[in-house]
Amino acid sequence: MNTVTRPRILVVGAGFAGVECVRRLERKLSPDEADVTLVTPFAYQLYLPLLPQVASGVLTPQSIAVSLRRSKKYRTRIIPGGAIGVDLKSKVCVIRTITDEIVNEPYDYIVLAPGSITRTFDIPGLTDHAFGMKTLAEAAYIRDHVISQLDLADASQDPVERASRLQFVVVGGGYAGTETAACLQRLTHAAVKRYPRLDPGLIKWHLIDIAPKLMPELGDKLGSSAQEILRRRGIEISLGTSIAKAGPEEVTFTDGRAIPTRTLIWTAGVVASPLIATLGAETVKGRLAVAPEMNLPGDDGVFALGDSAAVPDLAKGDGAMCPPTAQHALRQGKHVADNVIASLRGQAMKPYVHKDLGLVVDLGGTDAVSKPLGIELRGLPAQAVARGYHWSALRTNVAKTRVMTNWLLNAVAGDDFVRTGFQARKAARLKDFEYTDAYLTPEQVRAQVEGSVRPE
Ligand SMILES: Cc1cc2nc3c(=O)[nH]c(=O)nc-3n(C[C@H](O)[C@H](O)[C@H](O)COP(=O)(O)OP(=O)(O)OC[C@H]3O[C@@H](n4cnc5c(N)ncnc54)[C@H](O)[C@@H]3O)c2cc1C
Repeated sequence: MNTVTRPRILVVGAGFAGVECVRRLERKLSPDEADVTLVTPFAYQLYLPLLPQVASGVLTPQSIAVSLRRSKKYRTRIIPGGAIGVDLKSKVCVIRTITDEIVNEPYDYIVLAPGSITRTFDIPGLTDHAFGMKTLAEAAYIRDHVISQLDLADASQDPVERASRLQFVVVGGGYAGTETAACLQRLTHAAVKRYPRLDPGLIKWHLIDIAPKLMPELGDKLGSSAQEILRRRGIEISLGTSIAKAGPEEVTFTDGRAIPTRTLIWTAGVVASPLIATLGAETVKGRLAVAPEMNLPGDDGVFALGDSAAVPDLAKGDGAMCPPTAQHALRQGKHVADNVIASLRGQAMKPYVHKDLGLVVDLGGTDAVSKPLGIELRGLPAQAVARGYHWSALRTNVAKTRVMTNWLLNAVAGDDFVRTGFQARKAARLKDFEYTDAYLTPEQVRAQVEGSVRPE
């Protein structure tokens, strides 16, 4: 540890986990006890669970991008950029700033919270032709893309083109995929009334998953209710099915069906940020293997949490890992801050324990299913719980006001179908949005830290 100056705490990632950690450190540590630095490519914390509502236009993108600089009390130094490697031996994090400069940031304590990226498989055409639902840019892009399909189908004289533009495929029957399909189907259903030349019967949404059930965490009865709601709304659900190949105008399912479509949305799970692999440390399914205190055994001052870490789920036991949810990430954020402070002050760290509070699934309008504390809810009560939960979890009053105003506006005035066109000229898919090729190998990190090679 640096004994001349204050200890340096470096937090990587401003998501649920990173921001909660930083705020707690700011509150509990006096300014002369430690310097806190946050590395983040964006100046906001993204409230991911409401992303499908941005894609469907119920919420504006700004309302779920919660500012990191709202309060004058914040004193953390923010480095605008992404960590591209960590050298545990010399305690240096390599950062690529938003102006593409490579800087070495030394630390005494590092808290790794870079979250996850969309999990893909070796399916021909997938990364070239699928959209993800993991970033604000993707949600805004998908909205424009879906509305442009209606505009183009409306203008086309070719029945084959029309049919392909009006079919939409969502892969992934977890909450992210199910909410995305449900919210976007609602959008196209409402929009088609403004396109008198389009036959509403041609609009078809497909939701597919390789698993035998949608959202198995909901249990059989509630899971069937969710399926029932979606089927009633005309969404075709295919279980035990995945994608065999994806092309620009057609997607082939593993059951042999070829669906003419220009819209493939891929939400089939997440994997830890590629930053974790640069450490060369032990991982569990790609997530950094940490102790229940969220520190890296054998490496002083290294902590990891949220989607990027395999944190033992002590409440569940049986060697289970905490699932990658916001519910865990934000609680782990607070807890890891306490453990960093304990370690700094030479006190004992505490293991993380949290019993899952349940799941809320907003299917748009008054359709929802929720299971708070094991109680099964459907329809309006479920919707009230879902929205109430998300609303109260938003960190700032400005974000709360924006979200509430958007919900009220949408309830009164309905959807609108504006295609902004900002991003529509160039096709941008999964591979373009998540910067997965920005990271260094462990050897490149070492070379960068030793100053012998600068990465291109
Ligand atoms: C569509 C959708 C719906 C969801 N719905 C729910 C829900 O209803 N309930 C629930 O509990 N969970 C939900 N989740 C999951 C939840 O959002 C995640 O589990 C949670 O965001 C994880 O928190 P985190 O802090 O680990 O990562 P994130 O919140 O993803 O934050 C990671 C941060 O790190 C930044 N970052 C990434 N790489 C780097 C780098 N190299 N250097 C610096 N910064 C970096 C990112 O920009 C981001 O700001 C949903 C997820 C999605 C995608």
